[in-house]
Formats: sequence, structure tokens, C-alpha cells
Amino acid sequence: MWIINNFILKEKNGVQLYSIPVFTETGLVKHGFSTRIGGISEEPFQTLNLGFHTGDDWETVKENRRLFAQSLSIPLENIVAANQVHGDKIFKAGTSDRGRGAIEQKTVVKETDALITNEPGVALIAFYADCVPIMFLDPVLKVIAIAHAGWKGTVLNISRKTVEQMGDAYSCQPENILAAICPSIGPCHYEVDTPVISQFQENFNKWERVLKLKSDGKAQLDLWEANRMQLVDAGILGKHITVSEICTYCNPELLYSYRYENGKTGRLAGIIMLNN
Ligand SMILES: [Zn+2]
Repeated sequence: MWIINNFILKEKNGVQLYSIPVFTETGLVKHGFSTRIGGISEEPFQTLNLGFHTGDDWETVKENRRLFAQSLSIPLENIVAANQVHGDKIFKAGTSDRGRGAIEQKTVVKETDALITNEPGVALIAFYADCVPIMFLDPVLKVIAIAHAGWKGTVLNISRKTVEQMGDAYSCQPENILAAICPSIGPCHYEVDTPVISQFQENFNKWERVLKLKSDGKAQLDLWEANRMQLVDAGILGKHITVSEICTYCNPELLYSYRYENGKTGRLAGIIMLNN
């Protein structure tokens, strides 16, 4: 077990995964963020690819999902997955949704980029290869959420909207909510050009804090800070936000990066479930 940038990297049955200490300390959830270590996929997906639409063998991905879930003692049939589209739709999942998208696509929750629930035993999962994963836990009212924020979702304020939805659906108070920004593309390796730069300049008051403009007209974009700022705007306390500061591109042995491998790569997953 190693403490790495506010997250803990641990190993169970050969599967290496990150956990968030402040979430663990509540004793309320099972949760984790995967690495590429501990699965059975072959190159270029080696080894724990958890995404179906990657070009990898379907049965292999199913087995990887089983291995990942098992390493956290989460039953595969409790998982709820959405078909992520870089939008801002948030889905309230319940016990009857368990199993949707877990091992096949036809039952997946359609066109959704964040999942929330207050029901124990409902495991919310989302998939990533550079986009920013944000996990939420309200330990007072026992509500959880997971969001998927690429640059488009960030411009659409999906982090802030997820906090608002936790309030609307379950009466969560933002000052009680714990949030964690998991491994994803860091400001060190996220170069963007005009269309993305203008989207941030038009939609973010404090865009100078997340865009570092360069002389060639491009910019380095900091999606971690952009999402952290949204969480603070939504009322979450700064001390309740854990930012992993682990860049997917900087860690090719351990993590998948869409940019590093020119798109042909596996998917990481974040998962969180309230204990029964
Ligand atoms: Zn990096």
C-alpha cells in the first residue's frame, strides 16, 4: 500500500487500484479507481481494460470487469453503467437498475454522464481514458454520485450540476459532501487549440486560472482546477475536495491515456457503492 498524491494505491488478488482515504474513513462505501494492472487483456489493451467499445475482445472485458468488481467485493450484478456522451445528463439510479450495462450494452443507461443514488447496494460505475472522474459522498444523508467530465462536460458544468442534483433529489447540503477528482489527463499534458480555448473563455469567468496560453496560439488546459472550482462554486468546502493530481499520460505503465496511445487503448473505471 502506497500513499500517492492523496490517493492510496493498493493491490487485491493481483488487481491494483486507487482508493480515497477520506471516503474509506467514513466506513459507508466500497469504492475504487482502477489501473491497468490485474486483468487479462492483451496488447494494446494490457491488461485490465474495462471498456467495451475499445476494439478489445468482449468476453475479455467482461472477465476484467468481474476481476475488478471482485477485488472490491462488489457483486457484478449490482453495477449500473451509463452510455457516456460528454453531455450533462444525470441519472438517479435505484435497486431496479442494478445490472444495467454491467456485462452488456443493450440495457445500459442511455446518454448519461453522471449517476447518483441513495440506495445501498447500487454500484455506480463510469469509464475513462483521460476524462476527469469525480466521485461524491455525502456521509450525513448517505448519498453517492459519480461524474464523467471531459472538456465538453466541464464546459457544461457537470460537476456543479451533479452537486445541485444531489440537493434536489436527496436534500444533500453541499457543505457535507466529500468529493474526489481521480486520475485523468493533467495540465502537464493537455494541450488544446482554438475551439476549446474559446469555449472556456466564453463560459468561465476565471478562465485564466485554467488555461495557460502559449505563443503558438495553443494552450495547456487544467481540467482538475476547472472542476475543483465548479465544486467550490457549488458550495463544497475546499477541505472536502481531494485532487489526486495523478496524470494518465505521465503514467503509461499504470494507467490508460487516450492521447498517449493515439486512441487505441483501454478504459479505466471508477466505482462506488453504499454498503448495505
Ligand atoms: Zn502529465
